[in-house]
Amino acid sequence: ADAAPSGLIGRLFGRGAPAAAPVVRRTLDDEMLEELEEVLIQSDMGVETSLRVTANLAESHLGRRVSTAEVKMLLAEEIARIMEPVARPLPLYPSRPQVVLIVGVNGSGKTTTIGKLASQFRDAGKSVVIAAADTFRAAAVEQLQVWGDRAGVPVLTAPQGTDPASLVYDAMTKAQEDGADLLMIDTAGRLQNRADLMEELAKIVRVIRGKDPDAPHNTVLVLDATTGQNALSQVKTFKELSDVSGLVMTKLDGTARGGVLVALADSFGLPIHAIGVGEKIDDLAPFDPADFARALTG
Ligand code: GDP
Repeated sequence: ADAAPSGLIGRLFGRGAPAAAPVVRRTLDDEMLEELEEVLIQSDMGVETSLRVTANLAESHLGRRVSTAEVKMLLAEEIARIMEPVARPLPLYPSRPQVVLIVGVNGSGKTTTIGKLASQFRDAGKSVVIAAADTFRAAAVEQLQVWGDRAGVPVLTAPQGTDPASLVYDAMTKAQEDGADLLMIDTAGRLQNRADLMEELAKIVRVIRGKDPDAPHNTVLVLDATTGQNALSQVKTFKELSDVSGLVMTKLDGTARGGVLVALADSFGLPIHAIGVGEKIDDLAPFDPADFARALTG
């Protein structure tokens, strides 16, 4: 493991050493901590969180002679420590239906994530109903139907322009009559007009509560890892618009290193229910802090 330096951390030890070269060690001093900070900031972790991670590292290891592999391991441990408390799958409740509201900006992966979750729940023997409450985007409704077919789950739709809250009312009625285990509701993600979106989401929630005072049971915010630091402001915004109870981070299969997830965990502490790792129906994985931290540190 102590072979040629590679990746972000490896750069601090000098690149290009042949695989059989002797292990390079450096003293973990202030200079190195500053360089590490830079690397973490580059990975989208944000200044505050990066500083916290390196400060924790300094506390127990300042002055030690360390190799690349050791630095990676120590960093991965610090990151995993931050992430462990937020790694929590979507909690399941005995309510029929458990109502899961899915929010997020357009393009973040809401539709895809609903399809993947519906498929997982179905495989687990749950009956699922999907409501396509982003009634303004015809393409989104069509896409959701495609995913519903793939997952073998019914998708309730309404003609374009229908009041989303009225579709949600019908969906609640159907899911309750059918005794469905889960009702997953796709919502609009037009942040261009926040006041409208806030009113729309509030109305949807009022309708849901009218049918079940304990619902919605979960409000899951879907975030796109490739938006980097932007994800932080999306969480802030959607926390103002709705009662966000957990997160799914999509597109962690791409080049995005997902450091922003550490910043999110550090700043908001919201549960991370799952991560999207591709465009296929099975590409939704549980969030594993140790694996994630190792992938991030390289
Ligand atoms: P929505 O507008 O929020 O409903 O977003 P969509 O579900 O339509 O997703 C937008 C695009 O992102 C689509 O092209 C999806 O295939 C893609 N996508 C969603 N999740 C993932 C993921 O985890 N990995 C990758 N690579 N692409 C994803």
